[in-house]
Amino acid sequence: MNRDDFPILARTVYNRPLVYLDNAATTQKPRCVVEAMVDEYYNVNANVHRGVHFLSQQATDLHEGSREKVRQFLNAEKTSEILFTRGTTESINLLAYSFGEAFMQEGDEILVSEMEHHSNIVPWQLLAERKGLRLKIIPITDDGQLDLDAFVRILNESERLKLICVTHVSNVLGTVNPVKQIISIAHQHDVPVLIDGAQSTPHFKVDMQEMDCDFFAFSGHKIYGPTGVGVLYGKERWLEKMPPYQGGGEMINKVSFEHTTFNELPYKFEAGTPDYVGTHALATALDYVTAIGFDHIQEHEQQLTCYALQRLREIDNMQIYGHPEGKNGDAVISFNIKGIHHLDIGTLLDRLGIAVRTGHHCAEPLMHRLGTEGTVRASFALYNTKEEVDALAEGIKRVITMF
Ligand code: PMP
Repeated sequence: MNRDDFPILARTVYNRPLVYLDNAATTQKPRCVVEAMVDEYYNVNANVHRGVHFLSQQATDLHEGSREKVRQFLNAEKTSEILFTRGTTESINLLAYSFGEAFMQEGDEILVSEMEHHSNIVPWQLLAERKGLRLKIIPITDDGQLDLDAFVRILNESERLKLICVTHVSNVLGTVNPVKQIISIAHQHDVPVLIDGAQSTPHFKVDMQEMDCDFFAFSGHKIYGPTGVGVLYGKERWLEKMPPYQGGGEMINKVSFEHTTFNELPYKFEAGTPDYVGTHALATALDYVTAIGFDHIQEHEQQLTCYALQRLREIDNMQIYGHPEGKNGDAVISFNIKGIHHLDIGTLLDRLGIAVRTGHHCAEPLMHRLGTEGTVRASFALYNTKEEVDALAEGIKRVITMF
């Protein structure tokens, strides 16, 4: 792991070295990702799929080669199961629209968890309102884990459950959900499962065939790739029966004013010019993390997280959410200091050059469950160091002395 791969980490803010601990919001980009974009714009740029000319074919090869790299990264069975989107949010909206059209009727139910990001709540609420569906909730336990007993109870009671939508890793608590178990239980009830992989893909290996989820969404920008590109994986047997999400170029087979037929998978779901530079840069980011290796990344981030928990727990009046003993929490820690507003902590840490996130983290129902309006969140990436964790702990202590 080479910090020099990330030019931005060398900069200062307020004349202090930048300590970037807002990686759950977005990660910084290695040089190779930025260079892949610059190189494509300078040397290859042409619209994909439609051109017979050299550049168009080269750009198409890069774009479709990127789809194959995403397939390998996810260990999906087929490239036709890899849909390019703008990110996790668009992936889930696509699914909500299209799965809802194909498979849901008035009175049907959707199950989401209490720890979901708004991206995995609001699209389902919009669909529920449109089609007269019911949203059911898997509660969490006091120590920030999914309540699996309640989950099984809900499944046993629900006769019209059509889809379960659960995050792989909580963007607030760092809780890693037992998705394999959840999927296996759901499938015993013949209910398909969407996993929100926005916070898992940057930290550990995911495997679609092993996990056996029906749908999986993630964002490029959280895994060292560019903004504006993401992925929806879906099992072919579902995608084939789902209608297009948007209409336009590339998603059609034949168009007349009387009737339009649609393109094959995955193009049926990719209307308009795709972000082909973004997909190539995303593939470059995936190559980058794969070359470092998830064993390495995970070990490093786990060590950092454990060390950070230890340092933060030394601080008086510290309240850390989730991360119970004996459970492997991911590289995200949310906390509050009694008597000090989370926004004040974030603002003062910023003056020390430390970038953390404050607020509800797009998870207001979870905040409600935790009994707080917001938290301070520190989140780690492969390039963070023990010294940066020390800077955070010392920074918080300094903030406390100001009150
Ligand atoms: N789900 C989770 C768990 C997230 O952390 C995020 C980003 N904060 C999203 C969904 C939405 O991702 P994006 O904004 O990249 O669409």
